[in-house]
Amino acid sequence: MSKPVQTDVALIGAGIMSATLGALLRRLEPNTTITVVERLEQAGAESSDAWNNAGTGHAGLCELFYTPEKAVRVNEQFQVTRQFWAYAVANGLLGQPRDFVHPVPHVSFVHGADGVDYLRRRHQALAGNPLFAGTEFITDFNEFAARLPAMAAGRSPDVPVALDWAPHGTDVDFGSLTRQLIDYGVRHGSTVHYGHEVRTVSRESDGSWTLRLVERRTGETRRLNARFVFVGAGGASLGLLQRAGIPEVRGLGGFPIGGVFLRCGATALTAAHRAKVYGAPAPGAPSTTAAHLDARTVGGAPWLLFGPFAGWSPKFLKRGRVSDLPRSVRRDNVASLLRAGIAERELVGYLLGQLRRTHGSRVEALREFLPDADDADWQEIRAGQRVQVIRGGRLEFDTTIVHAADGSIAGLLGASPGASTAVPAMLDVLNRCFVGKFDAWLPTLTEMVPSLGTGLSEEPALFEQVWEWGSRTLELGH
Ligand SMILES: Cc1cc2nc3c(=O)[nH]c(=O)nc-3n(C[C@H](O)[C@H](O)[C@H](O)COP(=O)(O)OP(=O)(O)OC[C@H]3O[C@@H](n4cnc5c(N)ncnc54)[C@H](O)[C@@H]3O)c2cc1C
Repeated sequence: MSKPVQTDVALIGAGIMSATLGALLRRLEPNTTITVVERLEQAGAESSDAWNNAGTGHAGLCELFYTPEKAVRVNEQFQVTRQFWAYAVANGLLGQPRDFVHPVPHVSFVHGADGVDYLRRRHQALAGNPLFAGTEFITDFNEFAARLPAMAAGRSPDVPVALDWAPHGTDVDFGSLTRQLIDYGVRHGSTVHYGHEVRTVSRESDGSWTLRLVERRTGETRRLNARFVFVGAGGASLGLLQRAGIPEVRGLGGFPIGGVFLRCGATALTAAHRAKVYGAPAPGAPSTTAAHLDARTVGGAPWLLFGPFAGWSPKFLKRGRVSDLPRSVRRDNVASLLRAGIAERELVGYLLGQLRRTHGSRVEALREFLPDADDADWQEIRAGQRVQVIRGGRLEFDTTIVHAADGSIAGLLGASPGASTAVPAMLDVLNRCFVGKFDAWLPTLTEMVPSLGTGLSEEPALFEQVWEWGSRTLELGH
């Protein structure tokens, strides 16, 4: 077999995580050789694609399934992401902000007296934090109708409603963002092998890693040797890390949850609803499936998206294989998987119920948000797969970074809050895996993220400064 091609850094998968890490490293170490391997013919075509996720710039402003503490944590993470995007636009890594980010209010919505009471208390718990300043609590039906006319139409004013209205949220096309970041890398010397799947990841005696890639179209094999590997393969990351044999993933399992959205492009509706409105999760449902009605901008056009409805398939990627789940079961995680199956009975029941849903019953669920919704205006689209981590017999709904003790390989598992936290997640990877270099990078990293290492909740003046810079550079108009 021919000698493997050498690269300093190998990034497996061209989703938002690898794209972000690649752009950070390109900037920090201009002479490093970076090779991206992507099994599809395009970057950002799995979970990061605009239609495979909801495009919410998760900042804890509207997600009722976050505790107030988690909402603050997620907002702090999003501030890091937002600053890097501003830096990337200002420095030509990214093009026009409107190609990937749009301002849109983020809104929590409840109805019924108990819901209103809950939302009032939640609003009060966050109101004192500078990151949540400007959020309005609204219970007046006329005000509700003025702001969300499509949601008020056909609704009885006798049932109490409440909104927690954050005017400064974002809608993000993570697919477009991914492709721009990958293109930036390519313009500055990175190599991308599209249509190539990484099949094995093996450790060499000198501590480096050799990847075996197969070109999917021709079946041709090639090898790549890297000193550092990032496994940014989305749902497929667990399997690749298992095959790399690092002890840090021993015992971990994965459980795929798919998603179905309803989508509408009818002009009368898209014009009448320009907010991302989140409700509370149904009893027994995973938090990531709390229903929301989102104003989106994709490809320059306005859309509405409602969902997600949980779907199920054993595939770990939308374009994966049915053998993905069975192949992830190993001697070291089978007990944990079985215990999770028993502990998560309620979730399994919820998923089975979701699978039986018809188009009509999905539109019926939408009527909680849009009482006058018409079946004919909405079509179903299949979203990406989320592979939730199973650890110690429990299902987790977070994002986890795993890395080998020597920092030579790292990967990202789980998918929530997801793409919005790509920047802090990838900074964390750099911090864990480039220990000798991280301190030397700090001046550049602080240019990229001026608040690096600071909790902005505790630094209102700095927050105001970076917020204003981000809003101006990203043309978010607030
Ligand atoms: C229904 C749904 C809604 C969501 N909503 C939001 C939201 O509103 N906001 C938000 O911030 N996040 C959201 N997310 C999460 C977000 O989409 C993901 O966290 C994020 O896109 C993951 O990025 P990634 O780079 O890790 O993976 P991906 O984008 O999936 O990229 C992984 C890449 O690796 C490639 N790959 C896989 N295996 C191999 C291999 N062996 N060799 C080579 N290439 C390989 C794949 O083809 C793919 O291109 C949502 C997710 C879902 C499923």
